Amino acid sequence: MAGAMAVLALGAGTATALTPGVATSATSAPGTDGSATPAPAAEPAEPATRADGDSDTTTAVDGKVVTRATTALQRAREVTSESTSLTAKQERAIAEQADAVAELLAARSSGAASRSSEREPLPTEREALPSASPSPLVEDDVRDEAGADDGASGDVVDDAQDGTADAVSTEQVATATKKLTRLVTKARTDVTVEAAPETPVEITAAQAAEAKAAAAKLAQHVDSFEGFANGRVPAAELRELSFAGGETLRRDAAAQLERLDVAFRARFGTHLDITDSYRSYDSQVAVRATKGYLAAVPGYSEHGWGVAVDLGGGVESFGTAEYEWLRENAPMFGWDNPAWARSGGSKPEAWHWEYTPLQG
Ligand SMILES: [Zn+2]
Repeated sequence: MAGAMAVLALGAGTATALTPGVATSATSAPGTDGSATPAPAAEPAEPATRADGDSDTTTAVDGKVVTRATTALQRAREVTSESTSLTAKQERAIAEQADAVAELLAARSSGAASRSSEREPLPTEREALPSASPSPLVEDDVRDEAGADDGASGDVVDDAQDGTADAVSTEQVATATKKLTRLVTKARTDVTVEAAPETPVEITAAQAAEAKAAAAKLAQHVDSFEGFANGRVPAAELRELSFAGGETLRRDAAAQLERLDVAFRARFGTHLDITDSYRSYDSQVAVRATKGYLAAVPGYSEHGWGVAVDLGGGVESFGTAEYEWLRENAPMFGWDNPAWARSGGSKPEAWHWEYTPLQG
């Protein structure tokens, strides 16, 4: 009981915050008395199982509709107060619809005691209402109820004449709420187009599409190392990774790894952790001395061709989320953990990834 009253009071308060001028009837209504909450005990003759047009005799359904309406009002207040990019038109539409919902809630609470089912519109009449259309039917209902004479609302005058406007049905609240929710959702979508990040999956798909589109153009770099020996490529021919200072690759390999990194970061929040990339002949000799058979024979490493990286950050172990994600997604960028380096391969190295140019 107390909860329901708080809900109704909140609805009216929201309406006031949005447009004080229109909310007068809403703000006055909750003051009626404690009988505002629809009490199932007052209508014992009504079947409590119907969840359709006469659902307002069912408190459970009732409560849901009121909760939805209240939530919609809260969101309306949030979006109008927090958004800086709402158009004046959007803001007005949301404010007006919020007032309509608040008024329906208030009128519903004040009319609950005297409400009788025969005064409500027949189900067939209600079904005829275009609930999904942007027509101002709902507002007109409210205005009729409030006694305003609006020449444009002739299409709903019948409601007022047969007195149904006194009894606000659950469906009226639900319909008005639906419309408000739609306006708020639309506003939020418009607002968040720039601000909200796309999902990691969407970002990955977009990057992969770019990688594929860039493939033909990047093919010109494939032969750029021709004439140089493995590990003897001049620095000018290499491209440094923007997200990993000092780490260099052949230009096409670097470009596609940059795209993969964007996708990886969208998913994991961190850049790819590059522990090794292009390796000069001298450093291959040094690595061979340290790692022994684990490192390729100097002059034969893909690192010496600028098309291999060693990765940390979780990727160095099989079965991690990072490793599995890369196995699934990196091939779309031309990168993969080669078969020999996979778990069960001839020389398992989860951290070692190689680039093979995508076909354009
Ligand atoms: Zn490696």
